[in-house]
Amino acid sequence: MNADLLITGISQLVTADGPGLKRGPAMRDLKIVENAAIACTAGKLLWLGPRSEWAGKAERTCDLGNRAVVPGLIDPHTHAVWAGDRLADFEARTSGATYEQILAAGGGIRSTIRATALASREELAEQAQPRIDALLRSGATTIEVKSGYGFTVEAELRMLEAIQSLAARTRATLIPTLLIHIPPADLANRKSYLDQVCSELIPEAAQRKLATSVDIFVEKEAWHPKEARVVLEAALKRGLAIKLHTEQFHRIGGLELGLQLGALSCDHLEACKDAQFGAFARSNTVATILPGVSLHLGIPTAHGRQLVDAFAAIAVGTDLNPGSSPLYSMSSALALAVRLNGLTAPEALVAGTANAACAVGRSDLGRLEAAAPADFLVLQGRDWRELVYTLGANPVREVWKAAERVAA
Ligand SMILES: [Zn+2]
Repeated sequence: MNADLLITGISQLVTADGPGLKRGPAMRDLKIVENAAIACTAGKLLWLGPRSEWAGKAERTCDLGNRAVVPGLIDPHTHAVWAGDRLADFEARTSGATYEQILAAGGGIRSTIRATALASREELAEQAQPRIDALLRSGATTIEVKSGYGFTVEAELRMLEAIQSLAARTRATLIPTLLIHIPPADLANRKSYLDQVCSELIPEAAQRKLATSVDIFVEKEAWHPKEARVVLEAALKRGLAIKLHTEQFHRIGGLELGLQLGALSCDHLEACKDAQFGAFARSNTVATILPGVSLHLGIPTAHGRQLVDAFAAIAVGTDLNPGSSPLYSMSSALALAVRLNGLTAPEALVAGTANAACAVGRSDLGRLEAAAPADFLVLQGRDWRELVYTLGANPVREVWKAAERVAA
């Protein structure tokens, strides 16, 4: 066996094992190889196993100095493209203002939409770049990025173009999603916007390959399940995958709709309860939980423990966005999922790698195995559990993408 590069000095090589979604107890089944080595060729993993068993030749070698290695993380849920900021909202809220008072003062999500509407594609990409850099340094080698701060077809397409432009200037793999976020305030525009979404926006996004999925926010104050069905069916008809923001505050049928239509993932789930936990076990839809929102807004957490125990396949994301989750670290999202959602350390690792990869439609990613892309993290220490243990410092020492060190 001839490799371009042999990487040694790996105290522990830790990964989810085998293809497909990991649900229930399988989320705790990690493959751990002590004193390991990795051989790479053409950006892919050629071989991995105990160092003592490597019998091939390598052009170069690299010694990691007895440190743990895990797969590159996948952040399956971000809104990393926006303009403006929500710092005044944050100060008002932490000084006791209600959500309604903040909206009345011109803040809230509609202020982000106004600022984003004024920014050009290049300005949006430029402002998003440091956010993507931060996520990459935190260990996310693949990052889903949503549109959703536009109220017009043109503004949504511009956001998707900004994501495309961003993808060309980062080493992270970006997965673009068209998000139909909140409806226009008046009923007449709501109906005509929905028509435009289905007849213009989705077809154009699909045809220009600006998005691989369509996401919609199903909630009392956003879109109703009947409206969401029309949008999601239009997406499926164009060959796009579908996702939902659902059960964040209320249970109005979004989760059931997502499972019925075969969504890649249903995200949020803070209000999910009882029989809904088990519903995931009978589907291939990933349950994506977002602990940063619970921490930042002080709202209830999704019941991660109950979901795993009911055989759901869980993923964790940052939900990076200016209003409800200014969380710029995927490893911190996993650390929070352990504290706030009751996941164990192995479950959190699988939720941020193999399952998160399925949640973005890339089941080829998120695991270290022969023929997979050589996307992996070198941790600071020799024990992989530091990844989800550490708070406030970066447990990731080096980020490798396609067998190259891209962040350290
Ligand atoms: Zn979101």
